[in-house]
Amino acid sequence: MSKYVYLFREGSAKMRDLLGGKGANLCEMTRLGMPVPPGFVITTEVCVHHAREGKYPPTLDEQVTAALAQMEKEMGLKFGAEHDTLLLSCRSGARRSMPGMMETVLNVGLCSKTIPGLVQKTRNERFVYDAYRRLIMMYSDVVMEKAENIEPEEGEGIRDRMESLMAAMKKKKHYTQDTELTASDLKELCSQFKRKVKEVLGKEFPDDPMQQLWGAIGAVFKSWNGKRAVSYRRIEHIPDDWGTATNVQSMVFGNMGETSATGVAFTRNPATGENRFYGEWLPNAQGEDVVAGIRTPNPLNEETKNPQNRHLPSLQSKWPSLYRELDNIRIALEKHYTDMQDIEFTIQESKLFMLQCRNGKRTGTAALNMAMDMLEESLIDEKTAVLRVEPGHLDELLHPIVNPDAEKKAKPFLTGLPAGPGGAFGKIVFTSVDAVEWTRRGEKVILVREETNPEDVEGMRAATGILTARGGMTSHAALVARGWGKCCIVGAGEAVVDSESKQLIVGSTRLKEGDLITLNGTKGLVYRGALAMMDASENPRFQRFMKLVDRFRTLGVRTNADTQKDAKVARDYGAEGIGLFRTEHMFYGKGSDEPLFLLRKMILSSTPGERQAAVDELYPFVKRDIKATLEVMDGLPVTIRLLDPPLHEFVPKEKDKQEELAKALGVKPSDVKKRGEALHESNPMMGHRGVRLGITYPEITEMQVRAIFEASAELIKAGKRMKPEIMVPVTCDVGELDATRVVVDRIYGEVKKKTGIDVPFLYGTMIEIPRACLLADEMAKSAQFFSFGTNDLTQMTFGFSRDDAGTFLPDYLKQGLLSADPFQTIDQTGVGQLIRMSVEKGRATRSDLKIGICGEQGGDPASVEFCFKAGLNYVSCSPFRVPVARLAAAQANLKHKEAEKRGV
Ligand code: PEP
Ligand code: MG
Repeated sequence: MSKYVYLFREGSAKMRDLLGGKGANLCEMTRLGMPVPPGFVITTEVCVHHAREGKYPPTLDEQVTAALAQMEKEMGLKFGAEHDTLLLSCRSGARRSMPGMMETVLNVGLCSKTIPGLVQKTRNERFVYDAYRRLIMMYSDVVMEKAENIEPEEGEGIRDRMESLMAAMKKKKHYTQDTELTASDLKELCSQFKRKVKEVLGKEFPDDPMQQLWGAIGAVFKSWNGKRAVSYRRIEHIPDDWGTATNVQSMVFGNMGETSATGVAFTRNPATGENRFYGEWLPNAQGEDVVAGIRTPNPLNEETKNPQNRHLPSLQSKWPSLYRELDNIRIALEKHYTDMQDIEFTIQESKLFMLQCRNGKRTGTAALNMAMDMLEESLIDEKTAVLRVEPGHLDELLHPIVNPDAEKKAKPFLTGLPAGPGGAFGKIVFTSVDAVEWTRRGEKVILVREETNPEDVEGMRAATGILTARGGMTSHAALVARGWGKCCIVGAGEAVVDSESKQLIVGSTRLKEGDLITLNGTKGLVYRGALAMMDASENPRFQRFMKLVDRFRTLGVRTNADTQKDAKVARDYGAEGIGLFRTEHMFYGKGSDEPLFLLRKMILSSTPGERQAAVDELYPFVKRDIKATLEVMDGLPVTIRLLDPPLHEFVPKEKDKQEELAKALGVKPSDVKKRGEALHESNPMMGHRGVRLGITYPEITEMQVRAIFEASAELIKAGKRMKPEIMVPVTCDVGELDATRVVVDRIYGEVKKKTGIDVPFLYGTMIEIPRACLLADEMAKSAQFFSFGTNDLTQMTFGFSRDDAGTFLPDYLKQGLLSADPFQTIDQTGVGQLIRMSVEKGRATRSDLKIGICGEQGGDPASVEFCFKAGLNYVSCSPFRVPVARLAAAQANLKHKEAEKRGV
């Protein structure tokens, strides 16, 4: 019989795939002898089975009953019994943590049969009815509404309606806190809630404990396919077929009165990485109260105090011996897991229970600091330190911060908790939908919300920053934002967020939708207007870490740089050369007027004589540009690509520009217009571009090659080391390469004669057309190197226009037809096959064929890992992605070696 249910003592941390992270860690803590309330895990396989077949495996019922009987025995309580009743929690837990994205139901088992006995036993009627009202709220929301796919209008869900009933009761009684509600208030609320359930959902609230339990289990499994869980998986690239486990555990209560409490803590500071115990707790509360951000939580200890919670007593000062017990568990957990843990605990009548531990989400700064600290503490070795920092973390570390000088001059109008570091400015929006829409049209937005809400995941992702009026540092929004490296401020208590009228009100300041604000997420400060930002990479620890990274890296990392400035930035970030120098860059932007004019002259020439004259005029500019970049890269390889884009892109559309050109060419403006129109193409990406230009107009190739050789010769004369790599774009046949090579060799001879310098160089091609992949063995006869242009290769393999895919790709992603955007991360199954084949065929012809990639995907960690495995020599990416690619390359090496050791 397949085993679908594991008691906590039967599992371990190694069984994460089957038991989910939460379940596996509950098992592990149980094995370590920590105070974990007993329970069992229903495996992820059951979730997958249920989603596929619409029913549970036949023996599940039997296995759950047996596990429940074991729990009852251990606790000396019985589920559903009138006296000594056992209450249960049902929680989700996937292989990888998805905070707040799936469902939880607490207090399962409370019903008319069990309530009186529990009141009698606890002598605390208030507690029992508080637990019951929570059960009704959670259960009707999660099991009876969400799991039934009922989608009420915003604010009209069953939970919202109950919140309104509760708010009305508090108003009537002049209470400000939930804790002021008395036993009879809560009893009355429970009756109101049940009537509301019947009225809105058309069904009675279940009064049978077993029905409640199976309802909760089913809802947890179904929440795997809930809207926000699916969105989160898309963003985080978590496969749909992993499934979640369901953890069924004995309830312990943090809301049993003044000697009870609940809390969330991190074994080190998740925002800075500092080695201090860090957390928040709430007396007389259940776990959801801390993460939902309804009350401002108390600080765990001195270190956790901040302006918002300073007035509240810490756990350390209130219950020193419980704090010590928790601190000892903290130390034991870090030693055992050798990583920062995120823990949840409950104190029931002065007894401590552990409800969860998992590797904590952290900011990039914290990840770097923790990895280096733990290395210095000898808790981890160098390899682990390198693997500990995610490539995305570095990206975040290199994100901008608010310029301290600009900040000194500005005055914050609002403060909150620094939940996600860095700086961000943007226009205020008040809904997740607006955040997505405004961002789509190119605006930078700050999502402003009253409280933290996992439903906002899409908007939070889209926004450049997040600001909420309520919620603590461990609220779900804070966790999620931190995980994504988003600038985020929560718990800005002085703010009134009026989502109806779309206003943010702070004292006499009223800001409306579209107004600009700036967040300093490292300090929790909010400013009006857009303050200047700056780069945060000059950190000596970062430099030391990157040195370590390079010790484990074998794959080269180059950069795509077209200007002196970019080349310099990339060198500073550790680029080992240029993998793609797009020469056409000199015709765009600042300082491009003159060369662009000459290029246009060249394009619109109608006779070889005219064209040669324009090319000759253009030559000094091209040479100057190439020389400047070669000089910066002194000694490092530079791959210079011959002109690629379709010429009509440069044809002037403005009348005055056409007139100017007409004058220079000595023709009528109408002729210039006509010549321009003649260059129009229906499908320019597959038109007269790349090598095809040189085939038609060899003088264009000649001019560029001459510029490369002469610039190199001059630099060599000046004592520099040069080895340019000439790259031919958009090729599909070795004949194109051979024809171009004839031109290259001729110019090479001429330059040698003129300068007396033998410029060492390589000759190669981009591989960006499937035919070139199929014929890679032929191509390698002429090419000394390949560079995969995966932008075009993806376009041509999928048949998705890279310029127009934005209109339909989101639907492919939403419907799960593609797991990721292939223009951002290499499609390993399709495009990846072509790459692997080309590598094999190319190297069969030329064993020392140098191979790289220069498409956008070259800076994507998963693609870097793929390139490593496919045997490429280097990846090339934009300057700011260079550190990310270096780390991804080192990690690929370490992971791959691990795999080899395990014989995978
Ligand atoms: C590519 O196609 O991947 C590439 C790098 O070239 P471009 O984006 O300039 O077409
Ligand atoms: Mg290309």
